[in-house]
Amino acid sequence: MSAKKLPVIKLKDVTKKYGRDDTEVRALDNVTLEIDQGEFVAIMGPSGCGKTTLLNVIGLLDAVDEGSYLLDDKDVADMSGAARARIRAEKIGIVFQNFNLIGRMTVIDNVALPLTYRGMHHTKRLLKASRVLKSFHLSEREYYLPSQLSGGQMQRVAIARALVNSPSLILADEPTGNLDSRSSHVIMEELAELHREGNTILMVTHNPNLTSYASRVIRMLDGHVASDRKIRVIDNDKPEIVTLRHPEKTKVKKPKTAKKSKPASEKKLKSKQAKGAKK
Ligand code: ADP
Ligand code: MG
Repeated sequence: MSAKKLPVIKLKDVTKKYGRDDTEVRALDNVTLEIDQGEFVAIMGPSGCGKTTLLNVIGLLDAVDEGSYLLDDKDVADMSGAARARIRAEKIGIVFQNFNLIGRMTVIDNVALPLTYRGMHHTKRLLKASRVLKSFHLSEREYYLPSQLSGGQMQRVAIARALVNSPSLILADEPTGNLDSRSSHVIMEELAELHREGNTILMVTHNPNLTSYASRVIRMLDGHVASDRKIRVIDNDKPEIVTLRHPEKTKVKKPKTAKKSKPASEKKLKSKQAKGAKK
């Protein structure tokens, strides 16, 4: 893992609107946000607060109306459609909230699809897809159609497809929303491993328990960032929670009783989130 972390995502005053006049919705309302290489960010917030829109913008699927988005220090507004498609194929993996599997294609062809954009030979693509499917315990479903799968299996196929091209930026919209706790754990361990390898992960979740895997928790409300907290582990015995809501006034809080491992700070973080959620 690289020692120096660099911002991979920089959003400045980003606004994304849907509809017009009296039906206008600001799905993103003046969002300013920086995410470093190697962060594991959990994004929370009520339905309709703009989480999916944020992932779509970051994943280059949607353009902003106002403000700027720099990916790896390059303004995406200056890129051609072909350049954006190439970046998506080479370094972004997206797990869609509604899976977006192609119904007339088998599971293995769905998973191999992102590799076609790289000009990889058909046999090699299938081998790679098969290997990823195996890691998600889906080998025996390779030649099924999506309609023949359960919701949980479809979700695992969608995750396998997002990871097949070894993306360095993974955007997952409720990746465990349809899974039981055992399957959720398998997926979260997979994401945790990708995080340990230095990849950047943004995960939308409604499950507060899953934020313990994240290094940062962002809460959204009505299209903006309502709170932004990072767990900074410099010394394993004294993890710190850093509040980043106003980046220019970053506060560092030290827990009063520092326990041996991470959970102390996580509990604190969770109880704060629980309080926030009750409002
Ligand atoms: P979340 O993922 O947090 O539930 P979304 O990003 O899907 O929220 O939506 C944010 C807001 O934008 C909502 O009010 C939603 O109705 C609206 N919205 C999202 N996508 C569209 C669209 N394609 N057309 C019109 N309105 C949309
Ligand atoms: Mg959504």
